[in-house]
Amino acid sequence: MTAPILCWLRRDLRLADNRLLCAAAETGRPLIAVFILDPETEAIGAAPKWRLERGLAAFAATLQGIGSRLILRRGPALAVLRDLIAETGADTVWWHRLYDGASVARDRAVKSALTEAGITAQSFAGHVLFEPWQVETGAGGPYRVYGPFWRAVRGRPVGASLRAPGGLTPPATWPESDALEAWRLGVGMSRGARVVAKHARIGEAAAQARLDAFLRGPVDDYARLRDFPGAAATSGLSENLTYGEISPRQVWNAGLAAQAAGAPGAEVFLRELAWREFSYHLLYHFPEIETRNWRAEWDAFPWRGDNADAEAWRRGQTGEPLVDAAMRELFVTGTMHNRARMIAASYLTKHLLTDWRVGLAWFAQCLIDWDPAANAMGWQWVAGSGPDAAPYFRVFNPEAQAEKFDKSGEYRRKFLHEGQADPPEPALDFLAAAPRSWHLSRGDAAPVRRIAPVEGRARALAAYHAGRGES
Ligand code: FAD
Repeated sequence: MTAPILCWLRRDLRLADNRLLCAAAETGRPLIAVFILDPETEAIGAAPKWRLERGLAAFAATLQGIGSRLILRRGPALAVLRDLIAETGADTVWWHRLYDGASVARDRAVKSALTEAGITAQSFAGHVLFEPWQVETGAGGPYRVYGPFWRAVRGRPVGASLRAPGGLTPPATWPESDALEAWRLGVGMSRGARVVAKHARIGEAAAQARLDAFLRGPVDDYARLRDFPGAAATSGLSENLTYGEISPRQVWNAGLAAQAAGAPGAEVFLRELAWREFSYHLLYHFPEIETRNWRAEWDAFPWRGDNADAEAWRRGQTGEPLVDAAMRELFVTGTMHNRARMIAASYLTKHLLTDWRVGLAWFAQCLIDWDPAANAMGWQWVAGSGPDAAPYFRVFNPEAQAEKFDKSGEYRRKFLHEGQADPPEPALDFLAAAPRSWHLSRGDAAPVRRIAPVEGRARALAAYHAGRGES
């Protein structure tokens, strides 16, 4: 029983409630934690890759703090695992399940090849609360609508979160590891890295601190304020959940405890976490949601491909102040408030008639909380092409949204330098982070509007009716 266990880490960079590490610690057997930079991981966007590097550095330090190590290797996962098995004599490989199409295909192939070679290959739950195949409608099969999904999962037990293991048994000899810096994961970020770094909260301790801070105060007003982009009213935990620096079960259990203690916004917070679950439920059962219209009737819609308006949208230069503020928030912080995401996505797909996949791809480049399931569901939901989507004719009017959710203009002033004698730091950081080729500077006049909100709505609805063969 002295052969090491290989724990193949992916989106689970934590000690607490890490079922692999906790189970390995319980066996007392030597454990080797490995992160593999495989082609699937190499393919992620610039900002998530940069953030991954920071997360790996933090977790390597955490493991070192308890006398263990994070081994880094690059190459196709199966080949790397085979090499490590040969080098270390490991007879067991464990990992937490992921649910996107590419990961499911890779993991299945790895499992069958290792099993055939006599290795114990086992996957664990942990990235979501509810395994997608364990939540079924009364008639059988997956849910397509959030409301019934929520009612199905809300009272389900999830078990207690596991305490971090105090120590992990090291192998007799450590296998070699790549140097993290040699992977140059941050290279695509260019000037943005320094600016986004101010906003990132990296690692397990930071994630826990974020959760604690949220539950100490903002949760009380969460239901009332969560839609206001200028208010610091949400948890910010998406950044940590996506790399597994905190588990959904830790957050869920803490939310339940707050609810039991009478925190007014806790129920709404739990409902939002369940949206994350729903997005994984959809992604697992309908993996094409990342790339194809979920509703086939949308295939005939005359979406515009990439175009000059979309480029103005990416640069925060549409001339629609709330949309531009949202896009600059993305560039400066690597995240975007949920309401701002909906408004920016609606503007691109409806006012600018641009294919939701153009927006999805830009978010995937820029978000440090990029998540394949939430991003795909969010875009299809707003575009109107997804399951349980907002109907296409629900076109957000960015002016009306600004009046309702940013009445004082605080959020717009934070990110738009134009017209301000003394712009605040985030607005200036946008100028510092933007590529030089965008030719932006402090004295810029406000960009000219691409299309008036009312006209854009009428144009979107006309395209919608024409696409359906209606006059
Ligand atoms: P809180 O309000 O504190 O909510 C707590 C947690 O619940 C979040 O951390 C998140 O895990 C989950 N959650 C909340 N709202 C949603 C939602 N609508 N869908 C799924 N999960 C949710 N979220 C991502 O994590 N990654 C993405 O790539 C992503 N892309 C999106 C794209 C679009 C077009 C839209 C409309 C939404 C997208 N979302 C995405 C969902 C949502 O905007 C973020 O999860 C939220 O803004 C994160 O902020 P928070 O952690 O402060 O959330």
